[in-house]
Amino acid sequence: MNYLAEVDVDACAAHGDCVDVAPDVFALDDVARVIGTASDELLIEAAESCPSAAIRIVDRRSGDQVFP
Ligand code: SF4
Repeated sequence: MNYLAEVDVDACAAHGDCVDVAPDVFALDDVARVIGTASDELLIEAAESCPSAAIRIVDRRSGDQVFP
């Protein structure tokens, strides 16, 4: 679990796909917010599921963006 998810709240359109894919990581209010973490693979899968490309995945150690 080297990765962290971040939500661009200005881009989030509250579709909820990320919550469907990773309910332990995302919760949906007016926009999605990060509430936890999961495996790197699941974080990437959730980010790929976002129709608004509002989820960024970063390496928590290096700070490098790994998705998109
Ligand atoms: S899938 Fe994307 S647009 Fe939809 S709630 Fe999650 S972050 Fe927001």
